[in-house]
Amino acid sequence: MTEALNKEQIISRLQELVTSKQIDLDADHLKKASEDFYRKYPQAHQIYTAARPVAIVYPNNTAEVARILKYANEQGINVIARTGNSSIERGLESAREPHIIVDGSHLNKIVQLDVENQQLTAQAGLPLVIAEKYLNDKHLTTGHLPQSQPLADFGGLVATRSIGQLSTYYGGIEDLLVGLEAVMADGTIIRIKNEPRRSVGPDLRHLFLGSEGALAFITEVTVKVFPYWPQNYHYLAYNVATMRAGFQILRQVMVNGYKPSIIRLYDPVDWSQYFPENKQPILIFRSEGPKKISDATAQGIQEIVQKSSQVTPIQPLEPIIDWFQNLTWDQTNVDQEVQQMQKLPYVGFTTEIAAPWSTVADIFEAVTTRVKQEIPNLLGIGGHSSHSYVNGTNIYFVYAFKVADVAPEEEMARYHDPLNKIIVEETLKHQGSISHHHGIGKARAPYIKQEYGSSYPLLKKLFLCFDPQNTMNAGNIIPLQFMNEKDT
Ligand SMILES: Cc1cc2nc3c(=O)[nH]c(=O)nc-3n(C[C@H](O)[C@H](O)[C@H](O)COP(=O)(O)OP(=O)(O)OC[C@H]3O[C@@H](n4cnc5c(N)ncnc54)[C@H](O)[C@@H]3O)c2cc1C
Repeated sequence: MTEALNKEQIISRLQELVTSKQIDLDADHLKKASEDFYRKYPQAHQIYTAARPVAIVYPNNTAEVARILKYANEQGINVIARTGNSSIERGLESAREPHIIVDGSHLNKIVQLDVENQQLTAQAGLPLVIAEKYLNDKHLTTGHLPQSQPLADFGGLVATRSIGQLSTYYGGIEDLLVGLEAVMADGTIIRIKNEPRRSVGPDLRHLFLGSEGALAFITEVTVKVFPYWPQNYHYLAYNVATMRAGFQILRQVMVNGYKPSIIRLYDPVDWSQYFPENKQPILIFRSEGPKKISDATAQGIQEIVQKSSQVTPIQPLEPIIDWFQNLTWDQTNVDQEVQQMQKLPYVGFTTEIAAPWSTVADIFEAVTTRVKQEIPNLLGIGGHSSHSYVNGTNIYFVYAFKVADVAPEEEMARYHDPLNKIIVEETLKHQGSISHHHGIGKARAPYIKQEYGSSYPLLKKLFLCFDPQNTMNAGNIIPLQFMNEKDT
């Protein structure tokens, strides 16, 4: 059969499974749906090199998702699950043809707010920003505030193991997720019931958390909600002499049992994006919760910080509070960045990792040193820590380069991929994890064996067990060539 005939057959069958109105065949939409933000620089120059989907399908309910997935599975059609479309690790590109995008954004209802049990059940395509507004009006919050809050939806948040900027108080999505409904690769619908905790074998929620569309299509999620008390916030900010000293302060706060919602350490390169006059690393904290807890948390942090000779308080705090309140990115920010890249050949990217306290400063220094030595036309590399735990923290590397000597479509191979390789190599060498919250998509999937080590065969068996035809976002998390190897 010709490729054109194949496409027609697929479209014709999809039209039997859902209405024609639910199938988008617009050439420009298909082009834009073939890639995510990882390729933003060539995209700004109207260059799209990834394979186009046959169609974008918008199911209206779980039964339709099940019918579509069953058909795709029987016919070997690769399914790219999509909700908010804010992926940045090549998670929305297809590694195998033919493929369709199954877009969950019609599944956008609030199913139930259960105030007694402090739980919100939402369809997978409900934008987080809408849920948060709905809850705030009722003095409640999800406590989940990723920088992409105005872009991301619940299905994608769960599928990427997302984290919000207030995670140290509220937890990541893995702490918030109570239960879910999903459609498996063969069309089977499953539900994991909502319970405060269970001791009944492995916790199956974790199959779906971070599955990045490669195991199932998540259709509904239930998350915890919390009282919303913005009037109790306390902000604190300090200059600190070095990043190493800054990491030590973060550690002191965490190991002493404090849970500020914001706990951040910026190096001057990263911070200078916002406050160019600042020449030293900076620590930022916010406490929240009931007044007594918020007051005590702020007081405890102040006591810890005051014991250090390397720290100076920053006043006034209003510019920092204002900066934080405008930190989220919506479509306008994305469009502005695209316009800038059209005018100037400068590209900024971010890569996040996690590390234990014992090596985090070494990773920061090793990466920034190597990148400065090895990456041409670098405009700068810095970073910040924004999510801390009792046993370690994350680093969000922030870097920019001038695309000086290659065509826009070669930007990744020339700059971004080699830069990412340095971050991955130094992180793994120092016992860290190659991704803290963006997922790995297809961008960092080639490093999956080193990341998992001796547990890698388990991961591969899991994918082979739940998606033996490999029709759910094939190549995400585990590259296609690894799937075909006979190592399990
Ligand atoms: C400016 C910016 C800032 C960001 N800041 C943060 C941040 O602070 N914290 C953070 O965690 N992330 C951040 N991200 C990354 C991104 O927003 C998150 O990964 C987010 O969780 C993706 O959600 P989404 O709904 O947009 O998913 P999509 O982009 O639609 O998809 C992401 C991945 O999940 C899969 N997927 C999507 N929906 C489903 C579903 N229903 N079932 C199964 N799989 C599915 C897709 O196949 C894909 O692999 C940021 C991104 C941008 C562009």
